[in-house]
Amino acid sequence: MTKTDLVVLAVDDDIINLKLLKSMLMKSGYVKEVVEAKNGSDAIGELKARDDIDLILLDIIMPVMGGIEVLKVVRADNNLRQVPIIVLTTDETKKGEALEFGANAFLIKPIRNDDLIRKIKSVIV
Ligand SMILES: [Mg+2]
Repeated sequence: MTKTDLVVLAVDDDIINLKLLKSMLMKSGYVKEVVEAKNGSDAIGELKARDDIDLILLDIIMPVMGGIEVLKVVRADNNLRQVPIIVLTTDETKKGEALEFGANAFLIKPIRNDDLIRKIKSVIV
């Protein structure tokens, strides 16, 4: 991975998770900004409002709009479809569905720092 100034959209309805992710990302040396969203609808709003998001970290179970719905919207949008998405979830049951709808990678919560950075390196080229 050559890019070290990534803008990451972190989407999770759990504020503690969001803060933890932000902290890990900002310490990684690869990220210059973390944009936070607390559900899928907020996430789509951020994606439409700005064009500099390099990577999405996406929770699945969220109120208002869940992660699978976000995958469907992003992968159907000509301007967004190539943005890498790493799905974050508490169990493996959604893995098949997430990959089917276009997730690039999958991480099981609780997220560990080295796993997160390794996955980011695997999807950012
Ligand atoms: Mg959740």
